[in-house]
Amino acid sequence: MPDLLLEEDWAHRAATIRHLDFQLSGGEGLGGPAAGRALEATRRLPRNLTPGDYRRLGKDKTLRVYENPAAIALCIFDESKALCRKLEEGGKDTRPDLLTCVDSCSNIARTDDHIASITHQMDKLRAEAKLAPLPMAQSMLAQADRNERIVASFGASRILLSDAREQPSTVAHEELQGKPSE
Ligand code: SF4
Repeated sequence: MPDLLLEEDWAHRAATIRHLDFQLSGGEGLGGPAAGRALEATRRLPRNLTPGDYRRLGKDKTLRVYENPAAIALCIFDESKALCRKLEEGGKDTRPDLLTCVDSCSNIARTDDHIASITHQMDKLRAEAKLAPLPMAQSMLAQADRNERIVASFGASRILLSDAREQPSTVAHEELQGKPSE
């Protein structure tokens, strides 16, 4: 990937992690199979950074955190776990294919905000299905059922920042301040 695109990619990821940090600090919950890694990413990106630290952390593989509006989820990307069909390969710059996200991927994490959107979408689909012709109604109800499963599994895995603070970080302090994970 050209340097300019790499910089843009990192700027988006850093903004996503900062936003997540802000949400968690405000009391939002986090769930899904990659919730722990998402939380760890917020710990690895300190709020105050020198320009050098900022550039260095852009190469940290544990900070490959993407907002995925299509799946209403975060992707905490680890290529060894990725289920999307087509990965964009580019040497070290492997990225997820967000448009082919798979519900069962263990790189998925969601916040309360995502779950509120998924619940809203579910309610809307069920209301609209009542007025839709049969084949379309069936498809809408199937989508609503999928949303319901996501909401249920989120509830089972949901953690809060206050709970997580009682657990020691799995990342050593010197790693937080020092070399990126490659
Ligand atoms: S399937 Fe979805 S969560 Fe998994 S790596 Fe691909 S985009 Fe990310």
